[in-house]
Amino acid sequence: MECEEKRKILINSLKYNGICDKVLDAMMRVPRHIFVPDDYQETAYMDMPLPIGHNQTISAPHMVAIMCDLLDISDGMKILEVGSGSGYNAAVMAELVGEKGHIYTVERIPELAHFAEENLKKAGYKNVTVIQDDGSCGLEEHEPYERISVTSAAPEVPRPLIDQLATEGIMVIPVGNGEQQLVVVRKDSKGNVSYEAWGGVIFVPLIGKYGY
Ligand code: SAM
Repeated sequence: MECEEKRKILINSLKYNGICDKVLDAMMRVPRHIFVPDDYQETAYMDMPLPIGHNQTISAPHMVAIMCDLLDISDGMKILEVGSGSGYNAAVMAELVGEKGHIYTVERIPELAHFAEENLKKAGYKNVTVIQDDGSCGLEEHEPYERISVTSAAPEVPRPLIDQLATEGIMVIPVGNGEQQLVVVRKDSKGNVSYEAWGGVIFVPLIGKYGY
């Protein structure tokens, strides 16, 4: 079966998680196999996390879909991602923000920052910048961000990420050690911050100054 056919089957299966069409359409446009190491090409369109080396994973497609859905991403937004990994989630968000938007994605492990950058280049994304650094401190250079997506689990929501979230912004972040919750953080127009737990998830740990 061709990659596109496998992708259609995968995306169709995600519809039943209540994911909005905008996110499903964006995921339909991203060739996930480009972001998956050679050894796992056969499973690139299965709904599961896959190893990308250095004890890290590319997240399962349903998790990418849920996080993008919760973020309610629109055209032209500036987004910070913490944990580039393969670059796949950044690519899906790049589709959602379009040419006028931009994704800044920070990865701690130099080899993975390079992997993500190469994958994004191969797939043709020009509106994504990969930065190798400790993303638990955020990325002051380009703040504030309308959306923040954290793809590794923190002990608590890092203060710098709350500070770097724009007013009326949304952040999604897995929080906890062992038992993790995906938390949706919202900042209102006056700068008040609220937290809502979405449900249980399993992510690799956020390692860094404001992580583990
Ligand atoms: N978003 C990725 C994708 O689409 O492939 C999946 C990310 S993987 C589940 C989590 C990533 O977070 C790993 O690549 C890990 O190295 C990275 N990470 C952990 N702590 C970090 C930190 N403090 N700053 C930046 N990246 C971090």
